Amino acid sequence: MKTIGLLGGMSWESTQTYYRLINEGVKTRLGGLHSAKLVLYSVDFAEIEALQHQGDWSATARILSEAALALQKAGADFLVIGTNTMHKVAPEIEKAIGIPLLHIADATSKALAQDGIERVGLLGTRFTMEQTFYSNRLEEAGIQVITPNQAERDEVHRIIYEELCRGEINPASREAYLEIVNSLSKRGAQAVILGCTEIGLLIQQTDTNVPLYDTTEIHAKAAVEQMLAQFSDSHS
Ligand code: GLU
Repeated sequence: MKTIGLLGGMSWESTQTYYRLINEGVKTRLGGLHSAKLVLYSVDFAEIEALQHQGDWSATARILSEAALALQKAGADFLVIGTNTMHKVAPEIEKAIGIPLLHIADATSKALAQDGIERVGLLGTRFTMEQTFYSNRLEEAGIQVITPNQAERDEVHRIIYEELCRGEINPASREAYLEIVNSLSKRGAQAVILGCTEIGLLIQQTDTNVPLYDTTEIHAKAAVEQMLAQFSDSHS
């Protein structure tokens, strides 16, 4: 089994979901008392969030590159960054380390392509929805991305930082998200990406008929596949 390096704390509310899903995945695959070999580096999200909103992405890249290097030194065989937004600085982090990065948008586009989805709605932070670092990666894989309108994007962003990253689950916010999911579907989205690792804490597939692609679940599943790759190789 390979060792996962999980760069988390963005926010820790979703990092605990990653930790659980990765361990559950290993247990399902290997059974018994098996659990994930994993090194976790959890940052102080207040520092990262302040730099994001100041637009100082190079400072965030420095902090996360150091953390990723620490994971490598601690024995990680590959890196998982437990946030969509901070993949904005994935190229800088990749340059700083000598282990592979399992990119969250690649894992997501693979899952979409497997299901034949060609036009998808994207929910996430304003950074993820409005900048090109994330949607470009999906478009390059042949998937067309649509985002909510300005007022909806503001609300999606606000709920992430003011509620979900603080562990607050508010029924009114759930309704707001579900309305936005519906409007994306009416605009032709065949599915909607929960492109922020906390959104799955608020809405789940049982809440809507529109197919949802939860990036935390997809990323954790891909991480388990990567860590156990040689097992399937040796058994095939
Ligand atoms: N976890 C969120 C994401 O997936 C937002 C927190 C962050 O800004 O990293 O984008």
